[in-house]
Amino acid sequence: MAPDATYYDEVRDNPEVIDPPKNEDMVEVSEQINDHTQLSAKANLADASSVRELLECPVCLNAMYPPIHQCSNGHTLCSGCKPRVHNRCPTCRHELGNIRCLALEKVAASLELPCKYQSFGCLGIYPYYCKLKHESQCMFRPYNCPYAGSECTVVGDISYLVSHLKDDHKVDMHSGSSFNHRYVKSNPHEVFSCFGQYFCLHFEAFQLGTSPVYIAFLRFMGDDSEAKSYSYSLEVGGYGRKITWQGVPRSIRDSHRKVRDSYDGLIIQRNMALFFSGGDRKELKLRVTGRIWKEQ
Ligand SMILES: [Zn+2]
Ligand SMILES: [Zn+2]
Ligand SMILES: [Zn+2]
Ligand SMILES: [Zn+2]
Repeated sequence: MAPDATYYDEVRDNPEVIDPPKNEDMVEVSEQINDHTQLSAKANLADASSVRELLECPVCLNAMYPPIHQCSNGHTLCSGCKPRVHNRCPTCRHELGNIRCLALEKVAASLELPCKYQSFGCLGIYPYYCKLKHESQCMFRPYNCPYAGSECTVVGDISYLVSHLKDDHKVDMHSGSSFNHRYVKSNPHEVFSCFGQYFCLHFEAFQLGTSPVYIAFLRFMGDDSEAKSYSYSLEVGGYGRKITWQGVPRSIRDSHRKVRDSYDGLIIQRNMALFFSGGDRKELKLRVTGRIWKEQ
């Protein structure tokens, strides 16, 4: 081997010393998170509720996550509110500066809290910093009311929402996996029960670009993972013509508007819909037939 090659090998084996991170706070935080298991053994649930109060931002009242800020008197503030208080501590009016409250961040890391959907059946206990992420995906989190066309704010589990649709929105309930209905008005809401599940049929007029169209689609009352095990077909026609759509019901986690705006359903041009309706072509009298089945 030539002497030059040895020299280059040595250089490669001894890369330049990398400057230590300038931000010492960041180093400290990562160490603290590593030893949070030790601390969590000491924290018990009775302490947890008072610590939770400490972790509530005094301005927005939300739970605080790192970086948690504090003034020189020790009042804390969340990172979302910090830019909005013009460098004045909202509690004592002192200058806020740029001080992180590492102690509180460390205590937060030691907390383990039940999922906020405990009353809906979730038994999960999560470290403070993982709780939000879990809750955004928790399978027990309640569903929004799937009724379209109104700003209904009711939330609940599926059986609660089924009774709510029936009692409060006067939705027609059908049992069975196939249907054959004549629609004479826009925006009917119907719920089909089959395979021990509930499906909502939506039918409405909307504007696709510049063309007035109707869209019909099915939504599954449950999570997306389960929705995928079903398929459905819709058919509309008359006078020797027909349009068929086969699709996968969308979870009611997706808003009715989101599904509509993705055109994930049977789309019928208004002219065609009126043609299928016959008569004077002014009144909508569509016959939509459909079927739901479970994929293997
Ligand atoms: Zn805040
Ligand atoms: Zn202060
Ligand atoms: Zn949960
Ligand atoms: Zn509702």
